[in-house]
Amino acid sequence: MLKQIKDRVEGGKRFLITTHIDLDGDAVGSCFSLYWALISQKKDAYVYLKDMIPYKYRFLPGPKEPRYLLNTMPEDRFDTVFVLDCGDFHRVGKGYENLKNNGFIVNIDHHSTNSSFGNLNLIDEDASSTAEILYDLFRYLGIDISYEMAINIYTAILTDTGSFRYDNTTPKAFSICGHLTRIGVRPSSIATMVYESHPKERFILLGKTLNTLETYKDGKIVIAHITSDMFYDSKALEEFTDGFVEYIKEIDGIDIAILIRQIENSRYKLSMRSKGEVDVASICRAFGGGGHKKAAGCYINGDIETVKRRVLEAIEG
Ligand code: 5GP
Ligand code: MN
Repeated sequence: MLKQIKDRVEGGKRFLITTHIDLDGDAVGSCFSLYWALISQKKDAYVYLKDMIPYKYRFLPGPKEPRYLLNTMPEDRFDTVFVLDCGDFHRVGKGYENLKNNGFIVNIDHHSTNSSFGNLNLIDEDASSTAEILYDLFRYLGIDISYEMAINIYTAILTDTGSFRYDNTTPKAFSICGHLTRIGVRPSSIATMVYESHPKERFILLGKTLNTLETYKDGKIVIAHITSDMFYDSKALEEFTDGFVEYIKEIDGIDIAILIRQIENSRYKLSMRSKGEVDVASICRAFGGGGHKKAAGCYINGDIETVKRRVLEAIEG
């Protein structure tokens, strides 16, 4: 697999790099690290992000020239299209079907639920992050890790391991991060950018969200929700909710934490986190979503009470 990707990189000239909607640190960090890697090989690389980069990831070094950072789906051809950290093809966002016309698809990911939609699929569910898989790929390709690449890879591993707290915090993840700090990455600066640079409106919304907390099944399941009105009243954006579900996961003795966020009138996005043995990816899969065993998401239609009932029934099995 690595050899086939190497051939694509060495034999191609124009590359498109993209990822999933609802950008997170691994999505942006992976795209930008691959961008710098290809640029270092004198290739033309373009990054397509459907969504705006969330405020906390805007410090990540990416393409300086706007023409290399696209927010509309390109219509021209590329030698290879890299789709990173994206478990399902439709998670690239609206118009994803057209990507197949843009070129040969290389799908690189670490989600256990990945549907192998690429022409080549490099999937490693034991990797802490997609950026970790890329780090190995860069070494295989003989590409030196630059400072720009290092910041992106470090941030991706930091955020996808929940600040080195989740099960995917492996000796390998630490050893890569050790190498990246030797290249010049400063963990304290990155932690400040990612975890201590929030707008105050985020905390107004967090307060309202924590007030909705309910427990079920003898306190084993905890659910909080956010309605469109709550966003409006606190002048908060959707991206401000990144990390909310991790707060409620901190409650002692629970098995599953769920954050339900209103997307449209009768449509909700669920973020699920497991602290015990429950595989939340398989629960989310039943609703057309996916993710990892201990962190997954999906969308459910209906009013808020119906959504809660349906997810609780799915957990009961
Ligand atoms: P979050 O709850 O933070 O949005 O997502 C948790 C994990 O599940 C992430 O790895 C994310 O990529 C994945 N995920 C979230 N929503 C979906 C979805 O609708 N489909 C799939 N396949 N994965 C999802
Ligand atoms: Mn990831």
